[in-house]
Amino acid sequence: MSRRTENAGFGCLNCGLTVRRSTDGSYRNHCPFCLWSRHVDLRPGDRAAACGAPMAPVALRDRPGKGWQIVHCCTACGVVRANRVTRDGDQPDDVDALIALMGGSP
Ligand SMILES: [Zn+2]
Ligand SMILES: [Zn+2]
Repeated sequence: MSRRTENAGFGCLNCGLTVRRSTDGSYRNHCPFCLWSRHVDLRPGDRAAACGAPMAPVALRDRPGKGWQIVHCCTACGVVRANRVTRDGDQPDDVDALIALMGGSP
């Protein structure tokens, strides 16, 4: 598989907006508008998970050397994943949504 096909756009399961593939060199794995993800990867970009359920953003954390990450929790199987915040390129993550997440769950 090539990286180009793995780094594909998708329709967000939560807000329904169309998300284009990321252009900052990383894999697009969450919606930049509402920050929801989808449980499709076993490892980043492999699209090998059979689950496919929406993953809710539950926290924002700062990892030394890695930068800010959004913590996602799968609404079906409960798996927890951390994904790097998308700050550059096409469709960066929504700053207001990130700030709301920083305050924790409502
Ligand atoms: Zn969305
Ligand atoms: Zn899952």
